[in-house]
Amino acid sequence: MRKKTILLFLLLICMTTAAFAEEPAIVDKPLPWSAQREQLTREYARTHYGMDIVSIVPQAVVVHWTASQTWESAYKHFYADTSGDGTVNVSSHFLVDRDGTIYRLTPETALNRHAIGYNWCAIGIENVGGVNGAEDLTAAQLEANIQLIRSLQEKHPTIRYVFGHYQQDAARASGLYHENVAGYYSIKIDPGKSFMAALQANLQDRGLIFFE
Ligand SMILES: [Zn+2]
Repeated sequence: MRKKTILLFLLLICMTTAAFAEEPAIVDKPLPWSAQREQLTREYARTHYGMDIVSIVPQAVVVHWTASQTWESAYKHFYADTSGDGTVNVSSHFLVDRDGTIYRLTPETALNRHAIGYNWCAIGIENVGGVNGAEDLTAAQLEANIQLIRSLQEKHPTIRYVFGHYQQDAARASGLYHENVAGYYSIKIDPGKSFMAALQANLQDRGLIFFE
């Protein structure tokens, strides 16, 4: 009888853990949000999506690698308002260091330029690594991404899709892809197939949709 009670108790704990994902530890490290950045973001949304927006309703999470060795260099890369051609600079909502530390660079509902065709509806997670295309993201980063995506989905129940940047074409099946500028496209390999396979395997209970 006692054994049964303990088992029931353990089962309840497991069910509770599965149902409620606690937000993992996050370090806020905001990128500057200047009037210029806001204006350029609005222009980007108008040009590429025909939308007058600087914020999003998250429907997807796109996972990336930075192709750089340190979080500082990635942060520096995102820091300026503009990219080389005067358009809004690239950026991402989250940056995950190799030890699993999660930095939040912008509000989760800010429009960031990280995935062509999906920026109007997608949260971006950058992972430090992937220099020269090496599939070298760490176990700590995998765990951080799992916890982060679980907690994001709970905070934003509109999130239904998770895909790696290299899956941008397959993810068009979501119906979310939207791009007004013909030929605006670049081939991606991040964050590697093995990382996405591991992520999918660990998020199977969430009802999220993944792509091949
Ligand atoms: Zn990417």
